[in-house]
Amino acid sequence: MATKYIFVTGGVTSSLGKGIISASLAKLLQARGFSVTIQKFDPYINIDPGTLNPYEHGECFVTEDGAETDLDLGHYERYLNIPTSQANNVTTGRIYNHVITQEREGAYLGKTVQVIPHITDEIKRRMLLLGQSGEFDIVVTEIGGCVGDIESLPFIEAVRQLRWELGVHESCVIHLTLVPYLKAAGELKTKPTQHSVRDLSEAGVQPDILVCRSEHPIPSDLRRKIALFCNVKQNSVIESLDAETIYDVPLLMRKEKLDERVISKLKLPHKADPNLDSWKEFLGRLKNPTAEVNIALIGKYVELPDAYKSIIESFIHAGAANECKVNLKTFQSENINPDNVASLLGSMDAVLVAPGFGERGFQGKLDSIKYIRESNIPFLGICLGMQCAAVEFARNVLGLENAASTEMNPETPHPIIDMMADQKEITQKGGTMRLGAYTCELKKGSKAYSIYGKAKIIERHRHRYEFNNKYIADFEKAGMVASGINPDTGLVEIIELQNHRWFVAVQYHPELKSTVLNPHPLFVKFIKAAIDYAKSK
Ligand code: GLN
Repeated sequence: MATKYIFVTGGVTSSLGKGIISASLAKLLQARGFSVTIQKFDPYINIDPGTLNPYEHGECFVTEDGAETDLDLGHYERYLNIPTSQANNVTTGRIYNHVITQEREGAYLGKTVQVIPHITDEIKRRMLLLGQSGEFDIVVTEIGGCVGDIESLPFIEAVRQLRWELGVHESCVIHLTLVPYLKAAGELKTKPTQHSVRDLSEAGVQPDILVCRSEHPIPSDLRRKIALFCNVKQNSVIESLDAETIYDVPLLMRKEKLDERVISKLKLPHKADPNLDSWKEFLGRLKNPTAEVNIALIGKYVELPDAYKSIIESFIHAGAANECKVNLKTFQSENINPDNVASLLGSMDAVLVAPGFGERGFQGKLDSIKYIRESNIPFLGICLGMQCAAVEFARNVLGLENAASTEMNPETPHPIIDMMADQKEITQKGGTMRLGAYTCELKKGSKAYSIYGKAKIIERHRHRYEFNNKYIADFEKAGMVASGINPDTGLVEIIELQNHRWFVAVQYHPELKSTVLNPHPLFVKFIKAAIDYAKSK
């Protein structure tokens, strides 16, 4: 079967949840036996989101092949349970970069290089790329931003051309809009949807299906009205109500028959009704907890929860695996000091210190870890969180005054964490960290080994600094063991404290590999430790 293409656009406002709708639809189609992937096209000019501040764009999601991508790819992986790659995220910057490089190489000699056809050709080439691998029956393409934005125009134009070139029934367009409720009038309003569909139609793209976000059920007369004004069938006006959790959305879309509409538009064979048994089982466990824990998340971007998206979702997956409600309490590390740490963290059942960059909030993380270590509270450190755990141990257990990471203090007499050798010559910022999947070997008999139940693991990375191996022997003598090591480079991937209830810190990012169907073992066991600790109190 030739690959079919589904384009998802958005109108009226951003943040309607295009990523979740795309992932939910893909899940339903996958559950019917189709092989499906999702890609995201982002209209901004950065080559990738890797150089963006988390406050700007939320978390940067890293793929197995080391691409720094939009956080929606995290949703795609968590829903579909298959890895994405560099090819699944394309920005305007990447498109232009390619076309301009080609131009310099003489690929268009004699020609004026223009948005149409050169930029749109490159967009189309990228849109078809995953489909041409022969691996997928269906490729869902989410177009970032809002219809009507200047910067998304070339993407919409590319969709217009592609639909024509692919032929009828080979593609369909789903447009996500908002049907707001006006409290004063006591009414749902369809005008913003009409306008946004008109914008899309003016660009030459007629949507096949409208998914309407709404805080109230949309009655059938309103659906009829939307259908009439927007040239879609009434049964293709799909209502998307606010959901209790994002993981309810596939079931809500199933109820609204979004997958059936798509199958009929694309003339896809009816393979089977979606098998969502394991998904429903997950939801059952999520919604019927038998335990409850309070877990602290300490970071410096906590004002914006999107900055820690994958960590937050990993807790949801692992909470469900333990049938445990996880109350995640966030703490701005800048506000933590030795005087208030006990009152802030004393009642927590476990504490996670998050990844991050730079000096701000560093000391607060060290103060937190000292308290957690001494109070025997379960602890998980991730990336910078692991580096903080190492520095704290060096200062307060090994007595190495002014021990530090050279990221925070280049002059430190004890560079416990130092820049990786191959990073020292790098001057460019974009895409130059140690990124993506690397192997790690676990020490037999260690906590890490018992958590994973195997000796060799592969995890994803995003860092420039590493544990300084000169200090391993001193650390191990004092009870902090390097239990995970990269077998090729000797880089320390995991440290864990002996004589502590549960103290594990990792250089890699386990949160990037947790999915609904495969909750990450580190998070699962971390929550188990929190439950046990809560019970013992
Ligand atoms: N800033 C640290 C480094 O570059 C940690 C990075 C992170 O937490 N992702 O090594």
